[in-house]
Amino acid sequence: MANSRFEYVRTFERENILLPQTHIIIRIDGRGFHKFSSAYEFQKPNDPNALKVMNLSAQALMKSIPDVMMAYGDSDEYSFLLRKNCDLFERREFKLITAFSSGFSAYYQYYWNIVFPNKPLSVERLPTFDARAVVYPSDSIVKDYFRWRQVDCHINNLYNTSFWNLVIKGHLSPQEAENKLMGTVSSDKNELLFKEFGINYNDEPEMYKKGTVFIRDVRDTLDLVPNSDVNLSKRQVERLRGKLRKVTINELHCDIIKEEFWNKRAWLLK
Ligand code: ATP
Ligand code: ATP
Ligand code: MG
Ligand code: MG
Ligand code: MG
Ligand code: MG
Ligand code: MG
Repeated sequence: MANSRFEYVRTFERENILLPQTHIIIRIDGRGFHKFSSAYEFQKPNDPNALKVMNLSAQALMKSIPDVMMAYGDSDEYSFLLRKNCDLFERREFKLITAFSSGFSAYYQYYWNIVFPNKPLSVERLPTFDARAVVYPSDSIVKDYFRWRQVDCHINNLYNTSFWNLVIKGHLSPQEAENKLMGTVSSDKNELLFKEFGINYNDEPEMYKKGTVFIRDVRDTLDLVPNSDVNLSKRQVERLRGKLRKVTINELHCDIIKEEFWNKRAWLLK
């Protein structure tokens, strides 16, 4: 566009460039999914098809952006780990978060129609996602970030499993169930599930207990991802992204708290 006398308005724009050579994690979260899940009658505590829509969307987004090395999600949220040296949108925060939230929302609506052909989305209640980007300065904090999300998944799932069993099978009102669980610790909930409903929490599906992990599995081509202190030219970066795009993305429902997960996949944090 030719310069005009109105161009000066650009000088009001502000950018936040995320710190170079550090891991960026972008977390998206469904807006008002407590209500969304009851409006569309999700199975409680876990609707497997709704989780499928989340997982398909996360995988599609990860496929389309080769800089995403790993994703972890449960409930209505997903966290995406970007390659340490990633230069996507020149690391402009607003570009990054809006691309992830709008991209995820678009995929979610697409896959919703495929997974739930008999539950059309109402224009009054469309699924949308917000996003934030956080820069974590060390590998150990990145690992702790994902551990934090998985512990959160576990705590919520144990609570929700107890709550919904009390409501659905125990015929308590939501308020009564909430009161009954108030002040209980994990072992109390495990015992309640077993004694009152014959449920061994350990036997619940791994996806519900541990969430879902997607990894870009460069195991066989470890040298593919150069160390992050190596400066690549623009062309080399494009070639690397092209190769990463072709690497298989694996779905796991495993423990990411133990060091073993990370030791076995050192490339994730390169
Ligand atoms: P906010 O907009 O602040 O994120 P929210 O209502 O989305 O508000 P969250 O803390 O994100 O609150 O919680 C998401 C809620 O969505 C869960 O508490 C749960 O009730 C519901 N939910 C999400 N996924 C599922 C699912 N697969 N099955 C059943 N319920 C689900
Ligand atoms: P970026 O991702 O950086 O925004 P872009 O390709 O979207 O890249 P824009 O500067 O936003 O670049 O330009 C949008 C382009 O989309 C226009 O140049 C035009 O070619 C095309 N476009 C948008 N709307 C229409 C339309 N209604 N009819 C025809 N072409 C359109
Ligand atoms: Mg434009
Ligand atoms: Mg939120
Ligand atoms: Mg939410
Ligand atoms: Mg949430
Ligand atoms: Mg554009």
